[in-house]
Amino acid sequence: MEYKILNSDNIAEYIYSIKDLKEYFCDDKLTIEEIGDGNLNFVFIIKGENNKALILKQAVPYLRVLGEDFPLKRERMTYEIRALNEFSKNTPNHIPTIHHASEDMSSVIMEYLDTHIIMRSGLISKIKYPKFSDHISDYLAQNLFKTSSLYLDSVSKRELIDKFNTNSQLCAISEDFLFTFAFMEHPTNDSYADGHPLFEELISNQAFKEQVLNLKYKFMTKNDALLHGDLHTGSIMLNQDETYVIDPEFSFVGPFGFDIGALIGNLTMSYVSHLIQGDREYASWVLNTIDEVLEKFEAKFLALWDAQKSSALITEGFIEENYLNSYKQSFMTDILKDSVGFAGIKITRRMFGAAGVADIRGIEDKDLKDKAMELCLKISTRFVTLHKMIDSRDKIIAIIKDEMK
Ligand code: ADP
Ligand code: MG
Repeated sequence: MEYKILNSDNIAEYIYSIKDLKEYFCDDKLTIEEIGDGNLNFVFIIKGENNKALILKQAVPYLRVLGEDFPLKRERMTYEIRALNEFSKNTPNHIPTIHHASEDMSSVIMEYLDTHIIMRSGLISKIKYPKFSDHISDYLAQNLFKTSSLYLDSVSKRELIDKFNTNSQLCAISEDFLFTFAFMEHPTNDSYADGHPLFEELISNQAFKEQVLNLKYKFMTKNDALLHGDLHTGSIMLNQDETYVIDPEFSFVGPFGFDIGALIGNLTMSYVSHLIQGDREYASWVLNTIDEVLEKFEAKFLALWDAQKSSALITEGFIEENYLNSYKQSFMTDILKDSVGFAGIKITRRMFGAAGVADIRGIEDKDLKDKAMELCLKISTRFVTLHKMIDSRDKIIAIIKDEMK
């Protein structure tokens, strides 16, 4: 089908041109509502009768928030569709069911998560999610392991890279906005940066910038595993029983630590936000969750690795067990160090860069907000600058706690 932009007037016709969807909705009269709150794409709820509902997401050839004068290739949806398919194979319980996807139409029609909310809103409302660390560590371990050279054979791994690493425009956006513009004077930065002493301090911190280059280079060149590419708490929808990861349009084959870092960084900002605003009890739940995610991820990733006797990397019988185990241990420590570095990048760029997070920017009292930003920056610049020496969960937690005294 030739690409056309979908809207409330033509979606019903589109839906009924697709056999599976025609069957799903049984020719009901459809009601269509646009609900997108993201920056880039259009998201619609399509409702039939008897509580039947699906989500349709479509990419348009420009940036939704800024309008048609800001072109952005709609092919970003090609990578989102491919990533949803890959992740569905490994973790079907954590990806919305895909009912239809079309790279030509840059659109995907998926399960409507009607009892789940965006995790960032849940965290801001102080809701605890006891199963979250278990779910997200599954998601991370399964997807990172099974798309890496520790699991795939050499040809499959290279085919995976071929399928994803032309997501060039979105990778370039990350390189600019995550690793560069937010750490220098730049017109895209938030106006709150203008003359702010914390911003001046940040952009003159050369030891920090040296390690930013190190992490940016890893982001640009490492091909460890298929990443979500934007795994912040706004890309997770959940309730007390279920956790889903949405919106992988930034997916590419990159460094193991990047998604883990994104998540840890965003949870750290939630922690700081609650602590500064006086809810120590909820903050400590968040901190404990950070610890649990890291602990469970490592255990699950190693268990998958132990069960996989040969792969692109390792041929069975190549090395003695005790040496292999020591290799695995230092491999996991390297993932942890990179995760800390990327977490630091993710926190820092949210302070004065183009896109903030509601956990921090939403603090209404200016003094409290500045205090929260100061603490975030203390933690995040240490994460980035020292990441090569942060080789245990205890050290990560100690840094977060230490800055809070
Ligand atoms: P964008 O790429 O524009 O950021 P998202 O994929 O993040 O788009 O979707 C935007 C919003 O639409 C989400 O924040 C969420 O509120 C809603 N949404 C997206 N997918 C679903 C879904 N499967 N079920 C329910 N709501 C969804
Ligand atoms: Mg989004």
